[in-house]
Amino acid sequence: MSTIQKNIEAIYKTLSENIRLIAVSKTKPIADLQEAYDAGQRDFGENKIQEMTEKSEQLPKDIRWHMIGHVQTNKVKYMAPYVYMIHAVDSLKLLKEINKQASKYNRTIKCLLQLKIAKEEEKFGLNGEELIEILDSEIFKDMKHLEINGLMGMATFTADTSIIKNEFNKIANLMQDLQPKYPFLNELSTGMSGDYQIAITKGSTMVRIGSAIFGER
Ligand SMILES: *Cc1c(COP(=O)(O)O)cnc(C)c1O
Repeated sequence: MSTIQKNIEAIYKTLSENIRLIAVSKTKPIADLQEAYDAGQRDFGENKIQEMTEKSEQLPKDIRWHMIGHVQTNKVKYMAPYVYMIHAVDSLKLLKEINKQASKYNRTIKCLLQLKIAKEEEKFGLNGEELIEILDSEIFKDMKHLEINGLMGMATFTADTSIIKNEFNKIANLMQDLQPKYPFLNELSTGMSGDYQIAITKGSTMVRIGSAIFGER
């Protein structure tokens, strides 16, 4: 068994069945993704549309491709034919474009709204008010070619686990508060190689793990 396959198996042992593992394969060669695929992995995450598109053309068609990076509106069209889920949606403008491009292929694209939970300035994402504004907007209600399935968040990059716990608590609590009114919010995409064990104690349903599977980038 290869290292990649061993890593995947070890991670699955720590995850309960209701948590989906997204193998984050950005910057890694096709051969590495194929190894993970051969181990049964079907959900892959990438953060650049061009790289994801090239890989999707070379790999089996039953892979579910997750765009986990920040998305520029003018590039949505390149992934609209095949992308399974877009994790980091942070504006109504972007949702409009996703809906428009998905309609051209008569597809429904799954989306998560990115909530800003970290302290760092450079992290993208919405605050709670902006999120509700999108969910309540008439424009969103008319979008037939996308679904908003839940929320995504990235914790501060720190060794201080109490900060990470707080941030994951914040997003889990917000989702619980929103669920009665917006029952379609079911997925919580939180947790990376360094913090997924904390994330799964705080309600994560999707962990996005790269280096712990494929090695350092
Ligand atoms: C790269 C990346 C990951 C995976 O990071 P690792 O630390 O390698 O597990 C997860 N989420 C996002 C948004 C990323 O860009």
